[in-house]
Amino acid sequence: MTLVRARVMDTPDDPFAGGSLRHDDDGGLLVTDGVVTARGAYDRLRSAYPHEEVLDLRAGVLLPGFVDTHVHYPQVRVIGSLGLPLLEWLDRRALPEECRLAEPSYAAQVAREFVDGLVSAGTTSALVFGAHFAPAVDALLEEVARRGPRVTAGLVVSDRGLPEPLLTTPERAYDESRALAQRWHGHGRVRYAVTPRFSYSTTEATLDACAAVLKDEPGTWFTSHVNENPAEVAAVNDLFRDALHYVGTYDAHGLLSERSVLAHNVHTTDDELTLLAGRGAAVAHCPTSNSALGSGLFPLRRHVERGVRVALGSDVGAGTGFSLLKEGLQASFMQALLGPDGLPLTPAHLLFLATRAGALALGLDVGDLSEGRPFDAVWIRPEPGDPLDVGMRNAASPDDALAKVFALGTPADVGGVWVAGERL
Ligand SMILES: [Zn+2]
Repeated sequence: MTLVRARVMDTPDDPFAGGSLRHDDDGGLLVTDGVVTARGAYDRLRSAYPHEEVLDLRAGVLLPGFVDTHVHYPQVRVIGSLGLPLLEWLDRRALPEECRLAEPSYAAQVAREFVDGLVSAGTTSALVFGAHFAPAVDALLEEVARRGPRVTAGLVVSDRGLPEPLLTTPERAYDESRALAQRWHGHGRVRYAVTPRFSYSTTEATLDACAAVLKDEPGTWFTSHVNENPAEVAAVNDLFRDALHYVGTYDAHGLLSERSVLAHNVHTTDDELTLLAGRGAAVAHCPTSNSALGSGLFPLRRHVERGVRVALGSDVGAGTGFSLLKEGLQASFMQALLGPDGLPLTPAHLLFLATRAGALALGLDVGDLSEGRPFDAVWIRPEPGDPLDVGMRNAASPDDALAKVFALGTPADVGGVWVAGERL
């Protein structure tokens, strides 16, 4: 057992439903076999457990580990290709790089860089878009298993509209996805996600193959993209003449449930939101990606009002880095830019979106530091005297201190990351 002493902040109760920031200025968390087994004021816990080893994290603040609900493993090296809209960015930047993961040694190197990126940013759980090549997905999941974050990921499948090396067939998509799911789903903290890239690059037959994998490998997850960019939406509407709308292209194949996460959904209709809410599917909002590709301003208010679950994704490499702090900050900017259509976000909203909302979207029992939860945590500890340190020490309130963490915090401020009590 270890008694963790820290300034602790988390959001066990949804701020979109009246919850607020929970804050312990000098808190104690008793961690037993990787699980928080007692929580309270440090002094009280110390009296109750006088002989436990103490881990003193009082400098800075301890937060639940971040949950990234949309991030692409093969795109680490194309982060920062700015100034192109989605389809041009894919053609000129992302897809040529994704083709390189056909080479297993290249994929293994990228896998190391990717997991380093996640962990160094304080991300402890992620829903990851894999690669189009099965050996590259193995390389990712081997690295994940070695390092320890909670990752849900799968083989990305497409059978049209992409460079030839990235294409598969419905039969091969089924066979390779199924074999990977059998190898990895439930292996340690790894879970499998059935992953058609997007309807734009996937025929009805391959969407059916995806549905078959979901059915034949019970408990696996589903993820894809939707409604990111107007040109993409128009192209999908052309390809699927019979579909009611873009969300309907997935729903018609039985792919949407409470184990589904669709990325973006910027250009969405009320019918689509009603359908997503009815299926219990979640949306990964990726603010820096939406900004970098000029995709648009995410209608968060409409999602919340219609009861669609939303969490944050970094969308590396269209997104500009692995930090969920940066995504939270950009989310708040974008809601402000929407004016009266925006949903003003408090620091508690940002923390919830970066932690507990993601855990709920991914069906994981993490995302806050309540008793009974695994100890998945990130310690934000700025250098003494730097602007984040000064800001936090002079903050008017815990919410104000947390606002400064989102405004100023970067991976350089991450002093420690734990998953199930293990320091990564
Ligand atoms: Zn994406």
